[in-house]
Amino acid sequence: MPYLNITEVESALTSLATAYPTTSHLLTLPEPSIEGRTAHALQIGAPAGTPRACVMMIGGVHAREWGSCEILVHLAADLLEAHQNGTGLGYGGTTFTADQVGGLLQRLDLVFFPLVNPDGRLHSQTVDPMWRKNRDPANSGGSADPNCVGVDLNRNYDFLFDFATAFAPTATPQVSASPCDPQVYAGPSAFSEPETRNVRWLLDQYPRTGWFVDVHSYSEDMLYNWGDDDNQSIDPTMNFGNAQYDGKRGLPGDVAYAEYIPKTDADNAALLAERFCQGVGGVRGRPYKPLTGFHLYPTSGTSDDYVFSRHFVDGDQGKVLGFTVEWGTAFHPPWAEMRNIVLDVDAGLVAFCLATT
Ligand SMILES: [Zn+2]
Repeated sequence: MPYLNITEVESALTSLATAYPTTSHLLTLPEPSIEGRTAHALQIGAPAGTPRACVMMIGGVHAREWGSCEILVHLAADLLEAHQNGTGLGYGGTTFTADQVGGLLQRLDLVFFPLVNPDGRLHSQTVDPMWRKNRDPANSGGSADPNCVGVDLNRNYDFLFDFATAFAPTATPQVSASPCDPQVYAGPSAFSEPETRNVRWLLDQYPRTGWFVDVHSYSEDMLYNWGDDDNQSIDPTMNFGNAQYDGKRGLPGDVAYAEYIPKTDADNAALLAERFCQGVGGVRGRPYKPLTGFHLYPTSGTSDDYVFSRHFVDGDQGKVLGFTVEWGTAFHPPWAEMRNIVLDVDAGLVAFCLATT
């Protein structure tokens, strides 16, 4: 089976919802994409008596990272089938018992949103394989340059969106305010795009979400908070919301600024990332590494930092630890290799979910 096109990703979700009516539920996202496409998400879990904690997993944000959709569709299908048949799951050398799978679907709601950016995936699969952004022409200023179309959705969330103010002049966050940047244009304002507003809506629908995973490629890493600077657990006032530290963020190893994360959250995030990597490594030995987002490169406006920041901005919001998988070593490897990566990452995600408490 080759990579799924956008119609096939959507039909996979509806087929699963039809095949497993008691353990899955199809959600329609409220906002059509820029080109008018309606997106869906799938919630899975054993029939619930009481509200449960939720793990949310999204993919297909960056258009060229094709396998992210398949990773999430296959994981949902694997869990639903194993739960229905009362069996365990095996991914190469990483295995899970029937009790583990059954317990997972009893204890948690798992929400899969595998294709956040359908317009971009279509463009990448039919026109420009290396396309990353969505297909929003609104900020192109009438330019004929095709790079002036689109927003990098994973810079469009409301976290240090005004990076020019937030970061040190010598910092190098991977983000741009230029609409013609072919890769990392953040958009005119946070949540300017319907695709990111859909993700925010989904978070609002599941206030018991405790863990959020955004599936990307590539670099064989599992990233956790934060992405804007080094972590520190000593001074709560040194944080992204404190304007006193504007112009100081984003430099590694300095004392002028590091982003506050409570010690228990830092420990939990590191442990979960480690469990993910252990699950991956057991399949066929791929050496995925747990590290904070900042240690890949400094960023603003990403999904993982936005979801974690919500609790600090508004104490009524539940705390959500944010993660970004960077699978593989290429954006669209040959399908024979992508199949193996799907097994790697799905094993890691099951191990991750089992480690949530
Ligand atoms: Zn990406």
